Amino acid sequence: MAEGHETSAFPRYLWWNGKRTPWAEATTHVTVIGWSSVSAIFEGIMAYWNHDEQELFVFRLDAHLRRFLRSQKMVRMTQDYTAAQLTDAITDLLQANDAREDTYIMPLAFIGGGGGFRRLTATDPAPTDITITARPSSSHLLKREWKHACVSSWTRIPDNVMPPRIKNLSNYRNSQLASAEASINGYDTAILLNTAGKVAEGPGACLLMVRDGILYTPGVTDSILESITRESIITLARDLGIEVVERPVDRTELYIADEVFFCGTAAEITPIVSVDRYPVGDGEQGPITSRLEGAFHDIVRGKDRRYAHWVTPAAAAVGVPAD
Ligand code: PMP
Repeated sequence: MAEGHETSAFPRYLWWNGKRTPWAEATTHVTVIGWSSVSAIFEGIMAYWNHDEQELFVFRLDAHLRRFLRSQKMVRMTQDYTAAQLTDAITDLLQANDAREDTYIMPLAFIGGGGGFRRLTATDPAPTDITITARPSSSHLLKREWKHACVSSWTRIPDNVMPPRIKNLSNYRNSQLASAEASINGYDTAILLNTAGKVAEGPGACLLMVRDGILYTPGVTDSILESITRESIITLARDLGIEVVERPVDRTELYIADEVFFCGTAAEITPIVSVDRYPVGDGEQGPITSRLEGAFHDIVRGKDRRYAHWVTPAAAAVGVPAD
């Protein structure tokens, strides 16, 4: 590794099994990695820098940690840290890294120990390793980054095979297959249908659609991740007086929709301007999408104090605590 590379490319610290750890010291044996990935569950959380207030706001931290603990529960992993402990860990990490820009926070829990596939048994609880990383990741909100989507030939994994409700690393093979196919065929992204042939979600985002002024989105039992952004957008839209209906969505509805967009922690709000080369609406970002995007932008940066309960100040401006 080139001299100085660590400091420019990586933050100073990550969090590993209860301790803030210098990035370069967080090493493990190579054989652990592949096996652990099979079992790994994780979260993706965005923190947004508010320049005027010189503050970093973590979006829906409570909801993300609740989902993290629920993912652990569903895979029968031991829950060694509470949401309060993980909140402290994340705040400490952001401060120690002097995070003063938009940041992607990733808590990851996996069955450690190495040695191949581990069977979870009642008598031999497997050791759980947890890491939390926080790395710069800039927002694309309000940047008018639109996408052309295809409906994938891959089917979204169903709950009784590989539950999308669990934020499991392994689930992303299904997403990667769809994304790669889309890209090779000249599209920016994919929309996956579920085993019932209804719209499920994107490779890393949920889908919302506008028809005649009403916002529709597949329900939480339609083979989707229970997205925190989706839930936030539903609440926000209703607060803005926009009717929202959660129901199965047909593929052909996408072809006649006025607006379609993805939402998610990394996707934020991503307008889809064509599906299978059918233009969505007039082929540009639509007015309801724009309204939601503007409002969402102000909320995540902590500018709209009506939603102050959705953002956790990470007190980044306080400075770097001692080791
Ligand atoms: N679906 C999938 C498959 C995802 O990976 C994500 C990103 N976490 C989402 C939906 C959006 O979820 P959230 O809004 O909680 O980030």
